[in-house]
Amino acid sequence: MTNALFSPVTASFITALANDVGAENVSTAPAERRLHARDMSAHQEYLAEVVVWPHTAEQVAAVLRLANEAGVPVTAWGVGSSLEGNPVPVHGGVVLSLARMNGITAVHADDFQVTVQPGLPYKDLNRQLAPLGLFFAPDPGANATIGGMLANNAAGIRTVKYGASKDNVLRLQVALADGRLIQVGSRSVKQASGYDLLHLFVGSEGTLGVITEATLKLWPIPELMSAVVASFETVAAAVETVVLVRGSGLEPAALEFIDATHARLLSQAEGVDLGDQPALFMEFHAAHQATLQMGLDTVQEICRSMGAVRFRATTDPTERRRLWHARHAAYEIALRAHPQQKFMILDVAVPISAFPAMVAHIEATLDAHALTGYMVGHAGDGNLHVLLPFGDEASYRVATAVNEAVVLQAIELGGTATGEHGVGFGKARFMTREHGPALDVMRVIKQTLDPNGILNPGKIFSL
Ligand SMILES: Cc1cc2nc3c(=O)[nH]c(=O)nc-3n(C[C@H](O)[C@H](O)[C@H](O)COP(=O)(O)OP(=O)(O)OC[C@H]3O[C@@H](n4cnc5c(N)ncnc54)[C@H](O)[C@@H]3O)c2cc1C
Repeated sequence: MTNALFSPVTASFITALANDVGAENVSTAPAERRLHARDMSAHQEYLAEVVVWPHTAEQVAAVLRLANEAGVPVTAWGVGSSLEGNPVPVHGGVVLSLARMNGITAVHADDFQVTVQPGLPYKDLNRQLAPLGLFFAPDPGANATIGGMLANNAAGIRTVKYGASKDNVLRLQVALADGRLIQVGSRSVKQASGYDLLHLFVGSEGTLGVITEATLKLWPIPELMSAVVASFETVAAAVETVVLVRGSGLEPAALEFIDATHARLLSQAEGVDLGDQPALFMEFHAAHQATLQMGLDTVQEICRSMGAVRFRATTDPTERRRLWHARHAAYEIALRAHPQQKFMILDVAVPISAFPAMVAHIEATLDAHALTGYMVGHAGDGNLHVLLPFGDEASYRVATAVNEAVVLQAIELGGTATGEHGVGFGKARFMTREHGPALDVMRVIKQTLDPNGILNPGKIFSL
């Protein structure tokens, strides 16, 4: 996209970049620009003019200072696993990849904390923490980076117990558009000092600053885990069970919903007998076998009382992994079932009491358009996805109309246009509807921190 607001990248700008980060960390090669032109969604791609890989916070700050003075846009990049075009450089300029800033700076095991660089993928972090018996809980599935997760406020299947990324961060170092490096938050678990700038940067999708270091909260790896899979005759029974389990005080570590179409597909692909009814996947963590068993007894009672037609519970690690593998592979299995098609992945969240109404609305909308869609949700926290296959321009338009209807209904039900994937440019058109005058306040904050608008332009606010 060309835009009179920004300056093109010139030869002298590239030379200055190379002076700041080293020529080997700057590329204008078409292959590199293409690799950083689209995320994991089906949204349109845009090419940056140059890709840079800084190694230090000071280098990030230097790149921003240079770009700010030259009026060149800068879009931060983790691994590009977003689903709403969040890291796509819609105005060209610089893609600033954090991939080479991927180390652990310090482990504070006694405080259950770790300080990391932003380009570290969270699965790599957890592999390195495992010998200490600690883990970082947010789990979006794709091997996202810590910086990308914080910038999108990513969540995933364990949010119902451990919270989203915003709940698992204590302190950030951030490079501002003008090249200042600031610290926000602290390593204290309790914080009441000044404005909560920490959580201003979390979820800001790289539009307010670039995260150069993060101190994260860690959790002890649970001693014991169980897996439960229960199927129900109706969607209403399944989702009402979600509400009952949440209300029982059981604290599931995961509480996931899949609809009948998806259950049928997973049963065929994974050899897990889910039948063709809507199902719930649950996980419980405990330090003692007796506590775990008591929880399983209660959840079985709830499921039976809601008319569950299938109920399987296990504490055996191999069986647990097998059951959860089906849920984790849900997206890939849907992709394989539609080899010639792309997918639109819807993401909305509503108050838990409105979850049944949200599911019913989606079912009715899909029926009205005679469309196959796969519903899968982090039901424990009211977050729902629909995987919508499309093949051509006409079916893309239908999928877009369904997305629109689903988002507007979520907002109507007191929810939000996005529970965890963020706004990017895919959801920008819903922001006025969701936030009203609060969006103007967001614009003022953006203007204050990034007066030249160089940081990830075209995101959150409409193009
Ligand atoms: C199959 C699949 C399943 C998924 N499931 C989930 C899920 O269950 N839950 C969930 O929450 N998400 C999910 N996602 C979405 C995605 O993985 C997350 O949004 C993730 O946080 C993106 O991280 P990333 O490292 O890929 O960041 P990118 O996509 O590279 O960037 C994300 C955003 O952060 C900005 N950014 C990157 N690094 C920084 C930084 N250091 N400082 C400031 N801004 C930065 C970018 O500009 C962009 O706006 C899924 C994606 C896929 C493909």
